[in-house]
Amino acid sequence: MEKKRKGFIVAVDGYSSTGKSTVSKLLAARLGFTYIDTGAMYRVVTLKALREGVIHDGVVDEERLGSLLPALKIGFLYNEGKKRYESYLDGELVEDMIRGMEVSDKVSLIAALPVVRKVLVEKQREMAKEGAVIMDGRDIGSVVFPDADVKFFLTASSEVRAERRYRELLAKGETVTFDEVRANVEKRDYIDEHRAVSPLRKVPDAVEIDNGNLTIDEEVREMAAIIMRKYESRD
Ligand code: C5P
Repeated sequence: MEKKRKGFIVAVDGYSSTGKSTVSKLLAARLGFTYIDTGAMYRVVTLKALREGVIHDGVVDEERLGSLLPALKIGFLYNEGKKRYESYLDGELVEDMIRGMEVSDKVSLIAALPVVRKVLVEKQREMAKEGAVIMDGRDIGSVVFPDADVKFFLTASSEVRAERRYRELLAKGETVTFDEVRANVEKRDYIDEHRAVSPLRKVPDAVEIDNGNLTIDEEVREMAAIIMRKYESRD
């Protein structure tokens, strides 16, 4: 069993706010796999960049940011009470801060930088070394783990995605309008698809799932069945 689990990788890629992390967490809990949220890693680096003032008028001082990365510590811990994984920056709990609009507004800019991607991709490969893993992001099936055992690509219309994200932010007490959220979702899609390094794209061997008309339960069941078929056939 242990041998079978070791290095088994499920890649979940797709557009912003397609619910990748929601389904990935549910799948991980159901199958006993480890969940890794790579978007949170780009968000933590973005928070650091904002705090250090390395972004000026939409332009990033790449050299300074690059010099901060080696010492930067990104951590994830499971909070039993809140039943969620939480992100840490240099030991400080930053989970709520990295999900806000300020970070969301700049994260795709930061994620487009080769110096950032190089460091984070290395960390992601390191983190997945042990047991079976579900990793969500934009480039997991294409760049981080091109040989992943199972690859998914999630989609839904930008309207549906913005609506979900809008409700989430309102529930957290953020003051935003639906139009701001939709503009942010579309801007991130555009930057993610058009960047020179590791652009967001569906690789040919990924299973595409349009979840606009699926309940979360239906989606998780469909994905779990695909994963288990592959897992059972592994020697
Ligand atoms: O998944 P999430 O929406 O939290 O990701 C935040 C941003 O991080 C994305 O909009 C994208 O720009 C970037 N990202 C990335 N590659 C990943 C994960 C996230 O470029 N593997």
